[in-house]
Amino acid sequence: ERKALERLRHAPSRTRDGVDVRLYANAESVADVTEAHALGADGIGLYRTEFLFLQRAELPDEEEQFRAYRDLVLGMNGRPVTIRTLDIGGDKADASGLAPRGEPNPALGVRGIRLSLNHPVVFGTQLRAILRASGYGPVRLLIPMVTAREEIAAVRALIARHAERLREEGHAFRPRLPVGTMIEVPAAALGFSAFADLLDFASIGTNDLTQYLLAADRDNEALGDLYSPLNPAVLRVLRDVIATGQRRGVEVSVCGEMAGDPRYVPLLLALGLTDFSLHPDGLLEVRQAVRAADLAALRRRAPALLRCRDRSAILRWLSASEPRSE
Ligand code: PEP
Ligand code: MG
Repeated sequence: ERKALERLRHAPSRTRDGVDVRLYANAESVADVTEAHALGADGIGLYRTEFLFLQRAELPDEEEQFRAYRDLVLGMNGRPVTIRTLDIGGDKADASGLAPRGEPNPALGVRGIRLSLNHPVVFGTQLRAILRASGYGPVRLLIPMVTAREEIAAVRALIARHAERLREEGHAFRPRLPVGTMIEVPAAALGFSAFADLLDFASIGTNDLTQYLLAADRDNEALGDLYSPLNPAVLRVLRDVIATGQRRGVEVSVCGEMAGDPRYVPLLLALGLTDFSLHPDGLLEVRQAVRAADLAALRRRAPALLRCRDRSAILRWLSASEPRSE
């Protein structure tokens, strides 16, 4: 079993009917990046920078961040690297005291880009470090927890300002750094077409999107199956965001846990997804599921998927979509 998987390290992520899918890796550490590269990932689709900030009292300075981001870029050897700006707050507390404490509803509080925009010095340091790393390879910048168009415009303005300063200081960087947002707040999913013009790409965070659409805490195990993307409302929103991206020419990937589960590959392909970002541990299994899939047949079955009215109907659709072994 493992041997058959190992042989897929250098195999293309191509469906049975010949359509190429991109498998990017989610990374939090140097080990993840090495692993992603060894498994033939198409790039890094999500680098969670908060791991540089957690479990320490002092914030990492520009040099430390720059070196971490640059090493990431060099480790991927020319493949795109998507660096997400700080996403602390909510369930992720830091020891430096940046994230607010004692908020009545941390998941709905000052987290992600909301926190970064409240701390222009800290955010500016991170933007400078990311811009400088972009001098070493194809970096893309991903903004977490976006809710409104104004937030993207504010980040773009800050990037322009810091780029100008870096240019004066003689640093090299990518002139038109691609900027994308996480789609993980329902307002961003439903309002996606209203700010698609400001975006070079988008990545659906199904972990938080599911939590917020269903008003179900992602970490509360007492909720059982209620917290799950296998819900008709979640599937409808995914379909709409993917379709809007295609219509508007904005690349849309999924980087939540859902994209790393080989059982969900037929469902995501049926909804039109061609870009997955997942933890390297699941990469070969997802590649195997992609290679077993008949995309045209799945696309024909998409209307039936969207007609499912409950979880058990979705599960039946999934078992009917399992590739038959010849
Ligand atoms: C998500 O919300 O789906 C996501 C990928 O981000 P995180 O899990 O870091 O919140
Ligand atoms: Mg998230």
